[in-house]
Amino acid sequence: MSFSSQGFSPEIVRALTECGYEKLTPVQQQAIPHARRGHDILAHAQTGTGKTAAFSLPIIQQILDKPVQVNRFQTRALILAPTRELVEQIANNIQSYTQYTDVKVAAVFGGAKMSSQERKLEAGVDILVATPGRLIEHIELKNIALNKLEFLVFDEADRMLDMGFINAIRTILSDVDSSPQTMLFSATSSAQMNALAQDLLRKPKRVIV
Ligand code: AMP
Repeated sequence: MSFSSQGFSPEIVRALTECGYEKLTPVQQQAIPHARRGHDILAHAQTGTGKTAAFSLPIIQQILDKPVQVNRFQTRALILAPTRELVEQIANNIQSYTQYTDVKVAAVFGGAKMSSQERKLEAGVDILVATPGRLIEHIELKNIALNKLEFLVFDEADRMLDMGFINAIRTILSDVDSSPQTMLFSATSSAQMNALAQDLLRKPKRVIV
């Protein structure tokens, strides 16, 4: 199955070709059609399966399909991940996928200056990738508001729970007062994960690879 046959815009297909992507991986084959239609997703997928593209490409395409001028200190999509390394990796991938579009991407994580991250947020972004702790700092400083959020992703949700981020996640969710399309990706499942999925997802499509 090719990316152009999935109805992706030529500027995305061109970027993916340059990344060396020809065919969809199994997690992409399962998740992308549902995500493109706006469904919530509950996916069990390990790192290395192509999960980043599985959740980010449908968001990028939906943003291109419905261009909206983002206000200052706003984002349309939020992707939460447990570590700085993972946040940087996701943001870099999304930068590559969007290089021929004007989709604006930013990353925020601990251990880096608040001020340069703040400047990016001030301009408004389409897609924000963040670790939970640093995101809360920016929310408290009113550097970012999540009241217009359209897309929400939890990547490596099991690791975020293992690292004790559940309260941080709850705090972040209390700032979201829209009903974003939500996708939860996790390598393992647990009672705590199921409870979070139950709270967050509406009629999710299940993806297992
Ligand atoms: P991920 O599981 O998202 O960390 O992706 C693992 C690796 O697979 C990354 O290096 C991606 O760039 C690459 N990748 C993702 N999707 C595809 C694809 N459809 N074809 C080839 N490589 C891919």
